[in-house]
Amino acid sequence: MDADTIIVGGGLGGLAAAIRLQAAGQRVRLLEKNERVGGKLNLVQAAGYTFDTGPSLFTMPWVVRELFATVGRSADDVLDIVPVDPVCRYTWPDGTRWDHRTALPELIDEITRLSPDDAAGFFRFMAFAARIYAVTAEPFLLSPLRGWRDFVTPAFVRDAPALDPFHTLDQAVRRYFKSPYLRQVFNRYATYNGSSPYRAPATFAIIPYIEFAEGGWYLKGGMYSLARALAGLAAELGVQIETGAEVTQVCVEHGVARGVRVAGGRELRAERVIVNVDALHGLRHLVAPEHRRRWTDRRIHRFEPSCSGFVLLLGIDREYPELAHHNIFFSPDYPAEFKALFDLQVPVPDPTIYVAATVRSDADHAPAGGMNLFVLVNAPATSDRFGWEREAQGYRDLVVRMLEHRGLPGLSQHIRFEHRITPADFAARYHGWRGALYGPSSNQPLAAFLRPPIVSPDVRQLYFVGGATHPGGGIPLVLLSGKAVAVAIEREQGVAS
Ligand SMILES: Cc1cc2nc3c(=O)[nH]c(=O)nc-3n(C[C@H](O)[C@H](O)[C@H](O)COP(=O)(O)OP(=O)(O)OC[C@H]3O[C@@H](n4cnc5c(N)ncnc54)[C@H](O)[C@@H]3O)c2cc1C
Repeated sequence: MDADTIIVGGGLGGLAAAIRLQAAGQRVRLLEKNERVGGKLNLVQAAGYTFDTGPSLFTMPWVVRELFATVGRSADDVLDIVPVDPVCRYTWPDGTRWDHRTALPELIDEITRLSPDDAAGFFRFMAFAARIYAVTAEPFLLSPLRGWRDFVTPAFVRDAPALDPFHTLDQAVRRYFKSPYLRQVFNRYATYNGSSPYRAPATFAIIPYIEFAEGGWYLKGGMYSLARALAGLAAELGVQIETGAEVTQVCVEHGVARGVRVAGGRELRAERVIVNVDALHGLRHLVAPEHRRRWTDRRIHRFEPSCSGFVLLLGIDREYPELAHHNIFFSPDYPAEFKALFDLQVPVPDPTIYVAATVRSDADHAPAGGMNLFVLVNAPATSDRFGWEREAQGYRDLVVRMLEHRGLPGLSQHIRFEHRITPADFAARYHGWRGALYGPSSNQPLAAFLRPPIVSPDVRQLYFVGGATHPGGGIPLVLLSGKAVAVAIEREQGVAS
C-alpha cells in the first residue's frame, strides 16, 4: 500500500481533507497535476507585479482558524488575516458610487444616502437571512451531507419555509429594497456561487448576510498565502505532496476504489481515494463508465455549470486614486447579463466588471506609482456556441474600453504587463467542468441537494471534496467540504478527526 488515502488534486478542498486525515493518523498522499498546489487559488508574479489569479475576497475566517485549531495549530501564526474596508466599492454607469462599509453607522449612512427608505429594509433583510442561516448552518454547511436523509429531520421540516426556496434571490431582494442600485448590489451575491439572481433561490440571501454580518477579509502578502499555509501545515504533519502528477484513472476492483493510475503509467494503491478535481470532471474522466451506475455520462451532461470567468491581469504604471481594494463597475442591464451567461451562453456584451487591486493592502504588489489590477468578468461555461481561442483578444479590448468609460480613463496607455485567463484555460489548467468556477450552478430551488455527493454512491471507498460537491464553491465552503469528507470517513470507518 502506497498510502491509506490518496487525494487527487491539491486545491483547497484536497489540502483541507489531507490535513484532517493525516492528523487523525492516516498516511495521506496528495497528487497535484500542476507545478504547485492551490488549484484555482493561484498566483502570477512578473515584471515587478504580484497577482492572485483566483479568489480575492476572504470570508468566514473562522473556518480556516477552526481547521488549524483542530490539528493543534494557530492560523494566526502563519496568516495575517486583515479586514478590508470598504469591503467593496460599487460604481454605476451614471456615476453613482456606493461603498459597502463594515461599521454599522457608516453602512447605514451609505444606504440612506442612496435611498432613505432602505435602511429599515436592510435590517429586515438581515433578519430574514439570519433565520435562513440559523436553519441551514448546522445541517447543511457544517455537516457532511450525503443525501436527503441527512438533512430532512423533523426540525428541518418545521423550519423549511424560512428558506424561501421557491422565490428567487431577486424576488427576495425586491421585498426589502426599493433602490435599484441596492437591489443590484444584493443580487450580485448569487454570482458568489456562479449563479443568476433571477433563478437562484432566495435561500442564498445567506451569502450577503454573512458578508454584511461578519465583514470581508484579505490575507496580507496575497491570497496565495492561504495555499502556502495549508501546504506547509500538510507537509509538517507528514502528508506526501507530489506536484506534476496527473491522475488519469481511479482504479476500481470489485466495486471498491483501490488506488489511482498516474500519467506515465505508474499505479499507486491505497485504502481509499478522495477526488478533489471538480467532481463532474472527475466522475466523467477518472472513473470508468462501468463503475458509475448512478452517475452516468448522461446525468453528468444534464448539469448546468456555474459561470466561468474571463480574467485580465493588468500591471499598470499609474495610480487610479478612486479604486479601492475591491471594486465593481456595474452593467446597466443586469437581467440581460444573466440571460447572456445562462440562456444564450455567450460572453456579456456590456458586462459588470470586477477589479481588485491588492496593492491597496500590499504596497509591494506593484512597482512604485503603479497598480496590479485583477479584472474579472463573469463568463459562460465553455460550449460550442463560443470559441475563446478566436474571440479572446476582441473581448479583452471590449473590457478594457469599458473600464476606460466607466472610471479608469487612459487605461490602455498604461498597461506594462498583461496576462489573460479564459474559461477554456480554467477548464484546461484546473479541470473545472466546462471551465465552471463553482461546480454546478445553483439556478434552481433544490440545486444544493443535486450536487455530486461527497460519498460516492457507486464505488465504495471513493469520495469527493471541493467546490463541485457539498456544500459548494468558494474558499470557506470548500474548506468545510474537506471537513465534511473527513467526518464522513470517520463515521464510516472510524479514522478521521
Ligand atoms: C477567478 C476566480 C475568482 C474567485 N473568487 C473567489 C472569491 O473572491 N472568494 C472565494 O471564496 N472564492 C472565490 N473563487 C472560488 C474558489 O477559488 C474555489 O471555490 C476554490 O478555490 C476551489 O477549490 P477546490 O478544492 O474545489 O478545487 P480546485 O481549486 O479546482 O482544485 C482542484 C485541483 O485538482 C487538480 N487536478 C485536476 N485534475 C487533476 C488530475 N487529473 N490529477 C491531479 N490533479 C488534478 C487541479 O490542478 C487543481 O489544483 C474564485 C475562483 C476563481 C477561479
